[in-house]
Amino acid sequence: MKLQRIRQAVVCVALVIVFLIGLSRFCSLSTNAQQPVVEPYAPGLRNSAVGHPLSVEEMLVVQTQLRQKTGFVQLHFDEAGFLKIENRSHIDGGSALARKLVLAAADSKKSINLQSHNRSLKVSFARLTRGINWANLRTGVQLDAEIIELDFDDFNHLHGDQKAVEAFDPGFALLHELGHAVLELRDSAPRAKTAGDCEAYINGIRRELGIPQRRHYTADLYRRARFQSGLTITVAELTFEETSTSAHTEKHGSSRRFYLRWDAQQVGGARTTLRSTDRKRKARAGLAGL
Ligand SMILES: [Zn+2]
Repeated sequence: MKLQRIRQAVVCVALVIVFLIGLSRFCSLSTNAQQPVVEPYAPGLRNSAVGHPLSVEEMLVVQTQLRQKTGFVQLHFDEAGFLKIENRSHIDGGSALARKLVLAAADSKKSINLQSHNRSLKVSFARLTRGINWANLRTGVQLDAEIIELDFDDFNHLHGDQKAVEAFDPGFALLHELGHAVLELRDSAPRAKTAGDCEAYINGIRRELGIPQRRHYTADLYRRARFQSGLTITVAELTFEETSTSAHTEKHGSSRRFYLRWDAQQVGGARTTLRSTDRKRKARAGLAGL
């Protein structure tokens, strides 16, 4: 009799355990069913959902720089990584051209995805990869998707005048790529001595912000020997120009130039079109990407 009661108790405990396991699985399934489906691509500007997403710190850098350049006080990235501008009339400074570009990206029917590619030799500062046409087999929706690759580490290798460094930060790099992705603006030809349509737009933003403008799209390359090691490195150089608005200097056409330099081999992406090993002779070089 006692043995039978023990058996009954064991059976009861086993049934309770089975019930609890079943309940936990049901709860887990219910929770999963409530989670929204994360689509790999969706309209607007967002952190990548298809690999190489920006870290929290990198997203904060982008958010801070876009706020400064647009003046949108309520610009932020939501929990799903999408760029949101809650109140578009809440503006503090910034550039009207930057606002137009960033709004076009946020409202775009395209999917524009930000990826982090630090220390990549294929990316110098930033680049827009070739777009794809993506079809959602579940919903039947089709859209164009673009990926902007950012190499935040490259910006740590910049040297030169502080004003030139400020004119060439990750925020400007992103705006440049948005100029390609959203406004379909083009760069100048590799050896042309012009800024190109895309960089001309970004120069308009710099002008509105009181920042020197980039003179040419392509960087100059030249060789320089290191003093201590004697090794030769390839230096890339961009020139920025600030035209004074004072009456005197405007009359006499005065402007100031600021120089930005980096080790092309460390940053990568520079197509090696150096024509001479003579470090005093400069050659034109294309930048793959930005
Ligand atoms: Zn470009």
